[in-house]
Amino acid sequence: MKYCERCLQPDTRPNAQFTEAGICPACHYFDQLQHVDWQERYEIFEDLLRRYPRKSSQQFDCIIGVSGGKDSTRQALWIREKLGLKPLLACLTYPPQQVTQRGVDNISSLIELGFDVVISAPAPGIWQRSMKEAFLKFTNWARSTELALFSAVPQLAIRYDIPLILWGENPGLQLGDLKTLGNTGYDGNNLRFMNTLSGGSQDWMLEAGFHPKELLPYRYPDPSEFDQAGLQIVYLGWFLGDWSLINNAMYSGLNGLAYRTDSAKNTGDLLGVTSLDEDWVTLNQMIKYYKFGFGRATDYVNEEIRLGRISRDQGIALVEEYDGCCSEEYIESFCHYIGIALEQFWQQVHANVNKDLFEIGADKIIQRRYRVGLGL
Ligand SMILES: [Zn+2]
Repeated sequence: MKYCERCLQPDTRPNAQFTEAGICPACHYFDQLQHVDWQERYEIFEDLLRRYPRKSSQQFDCIIGVSGGKDSTRQALWIREKLGLKPLLACLTYPPQQVTQRGVDNISSLIELGFDVVISAPAPGIWQRSMKEAFLKFTNWARSTELALFSAVPQLAIRYDIPLILWGENPGLQLGDLKTLGNTGYDGNNLRFMNTLSGGSQDWMLEAGFHPKELLPYRYPDPSEFDQAGLQIVYLGWFLGDWSLINNAMYSGLNGLAYRTDSAKNTGDLLGVTSLDEDWVTLNQMIKYYKFGFGRATDYVNEEIRLGRISRDQGIALVEEYDGCCSEEYIESFCHYIGIALEQFWQQVHANVNKDLFEIGADKIIQRRYRVGLGL
């Protein structure tokens, strides 16, 4: 395990490659951003919009997937206030046992701000069962629900006949997932190649006994459907020079978005501005930490180091303290929801801990073998 020379990204992130100088893809991308002509990009965006005029039979210019989080709130407002467009907001909501009151309130605020929102809620029984299957098979409960989250937007775009889909960040550029890079920095039609969505993404669900018809909300439209509907996904993050976790949170907070009020010790979330609408993504961040040696605190800290707001050493202290943090309460409510015992949860997590990076003591406490910022 090696760390980026500049930030605290280890080279264990899947599909990410460091430069020869030992710089991670996100830092490399950040360097390139310093030379971008943002006015030129804005003009490219205007040209793009001219190529997708509102259809005479439609009342919307584009569709934006929203969760009531900081990124989607910022996108929706920017599109309407800056460009004067009328977006349809598409929200795939969680079942009542999963969604937080804060998440519900945040969607309500968007509606109060005057947006048209279409809300879709897949059948809760299949949602719950597929989540359990995914956890037991991959130690990642979100395998099925992410499929639904990603699929809902193009599915609705086809149904409402709105070809232009605006998406937030380009995972190829911002996270260094090279498989999803499109023809240009803003072309999002390659999103289908990301791990969650790529070939045979439903196979494990079919093997688990789900009927293909039950899985319709989990089906990402195939390339021929994209072509037929003329769908174009565009990453909005590519056009916005100040697109970042913290800027988006500030912008959305000023427009009514409610943040988390629990401590970073419960969530590993230093500012409490991510995953506002549910609590179990925090479990996944903890598991990711045990698999790859970096969690949610690392993502925050890296951005802050790049922006020069904290030093690498200050970052190390924060990562040491908060990476992998997850409240017992969230773990208990998750186990209760999918119907497994706490012991089974930990057995499964322990079996998936990366033993090169961590050591599980006799007391079952998991300890780092590596040193944050130095590696192994
Ligand atoms: Zn870096």
